[in-house]
Amino acid sequence: MRTGTLGVNLPGLLPIIRKYLYTHSDVFLRELIANGVDACQKLLTLAPTEGIEVEKDALKVEIIVYPSKKQLLVRDNGVGMTEEEIERFLTVIAASSAREFAEKYKETDIIGFFGMGFYSAFMVADQVEVVTQSYRPGSQALRWVSDGSENYTLEAATRPEGRGTSVLLHLSSEYEEYAQIWRVRQVAERYARFLSIPIYVEGSSINQKPLWREHPSTVEESDYKKFYTLLYPQRHEPAFYVHLNIDYPIALQGILYFPTLRPDTVLEQNPLSLYVRGMFITDQLGDILPEYLRLLHGVIESTDIPLNVSRSQLQVDPSVRKLSQYISRKVAEKLKEVLHTDRQRYEKLWEHVGPFIKYGMVREEDFAQRVQDLCLVETLDQRFLTLAEYRTHLKATKGEKGYSVGFYATDPAKQGALAALFQSKGYPVIKADTVIDPYWLSYIERREQIRFLRVDAEEASKWLEGDEKDQGLTMEEEKVVREALERLTGLRVERQLLGAEGPAALLLREEAARRYQESLLRGEEVRPTQLVFNPQHPIYRRYLLTQDIRWLEHVWDWARLLSGDLQDKDLQAFLKRDWGLLSPS
Ligand code: ADP
Ligand code: MG
Repeated sequence: MRTGTLGVNLPGLLPIIRKYLYTHSDVFLRELIANGVDACQKLLTLAPTEGIEVEKDALKVEIIVYPSKKQLLVRDNGVGMTEEEIERFLTVIAASSAREFAEKYKETDIIGFFGMGFYSAFMVADQVEVVTQSYRPGSQALRWVSDGSENYTLEAATRPEGRGTSVLLHLSSEYEEYAQIWRVRQVAERYARFLSIPIYVEGSSINQKPLWREHPSTVEESDYKKFYTLLYPQRHEPAFYVHLNIDYPIALQGILYFPTLRPDTVLEQNPLSLYVRGMFITDQLGDILPEYLRLLHGVIESTDIPLNVSRSQLQVDPSVRKLSQYISRKVAEKLKEVLHTDRQRYEKLWEHVGPFIKYGMVREEDFAQRVQDLCLVETLDQRFLTLAEYRTHLKATKGEKGYSVGFYATDPAKQGALAALFQSKGYPVIKADTVIDPYWLSYIERREQIRFLRVDAEEASKWLEGDEKDQGLTMEEEKVVREALERLTGLRVERQLLGAEGPAALLLREEAARRYQESLLRGEEVRPTQLVFNPQHPIYRRYLLTQDIRWLEHVWDWARLLSGDLQDKDLQAFLKRDWGLLSPS
């Protein structure tokens, strides 16, 4: 056996590192700003022990563009570098003073870590020129120039500004965009606007206050909204927000927003932006949020989330996953708070969050436990009831096997008339018109011992039953009517007493069969299976007296109208016949 050591041909490797270090070319600016900010931060840390006088406000990172020269300058007045530091850190890739410094001084505001950031300047520049002067008394300013190959030059220079570092990029022709103010401002704002050291682009400050770091008790409702507009200038106001502040399992702060759902809301996964020490890192956070909360968006900041060099792909480790549990708990807490302090607001909010809460309940039992008392049902007459409140309305429909019957409508416009019959008898009819509702209803049936019936279900109609006293027709007459209706409709026809004020007939579907078919057909209306006629309705007496089939045709259309099945042409025929029947002949 033989052992050996892998050799590296550095000149050959450099162009590869240069090209593949980061996926986005614009991160070079983030890295240069980060270095400037680190340099200022170090000066602040060293100042007291080394007797340097600095005012925090005087420290800054400035970005200046020279469009005609295709140059970009990033300049700071931080610690600067000595010749030795240049040799140790700038000219050795993957050497970082930032990590050493942070460890030595327990300094938590230092951004650098991997010692790769500076080299990213060569992704966009043919040549990089650094003029730097160390804060140490009597330091000589130095100019370091490199084209990103293994060669560089280092010489004495002058730095009229004194202490600090200027990094001048001679942009390569592909990346001349970074000599444009608007582009540079865009990139600088994206990455660096929440940093605590002042950042200037062409003389104007880009800094904004990172609201998530404030204590929630000191932040006003309006501040959250303003902050939202800052993050998402194009969007409508959010429905609600959650301010996160956690120490365990990882230290994390942030603000998450829930969007208002509108017909034009795009239900895409929303970006959640991750910041580390005030610097924007990525909005590709993968599955940090539970699936049913992916509509939440906003900012989170943590120094504990493990990052790799490229920093754009987050390593999802178990602690990050626990975080998703925490966030889901926090969302439930926040909703509870709104429900208990401002019921009206909560009911308005429900329109936006309801579908997702229901989805979460179906998906995850833990979440369901957490939100069961927060879940509302909306009735067709626009009342919002918690599940507990809804239960009290179900007493009247309690069946033998211990379960109660609840009624719902999937299409309030079509089934509204039928639903009104149930509501007039005191049975609330709940709205179940979102995609998640069929699943949610089945889920609630299982856990709450409720049997849900759509208002046009065969089994539902018996709850509409009326007074037995006046039977309306004799057995013989009923038989005549039933047979005539069967011929007319081709459906199974049964009698049911619905009272003289009740409808003449109802078109019904069998609940279980309908649900089954719907799960297969997707979107297509399932055909009715049965017509019940109400012998107590006076229209049948009219038919028997006149033997005019139009009365029964009218009954048929009426039933279809009630269940929303009567379409254009039929509807016109109905109206015409209605007019004919009512006009004295
Ligand atoms: P990192 O920031 O992760 O340490 P970089 O490649 O970005 O790695 O920088 C390497 C080192 O170069 C830094 O640790 C620091 O010592 C030095 N450096 C880079 N830019 C500056 C600057 N603007 N001022 C002072 N030192 C700098
Ligand atoms: Mg750096």
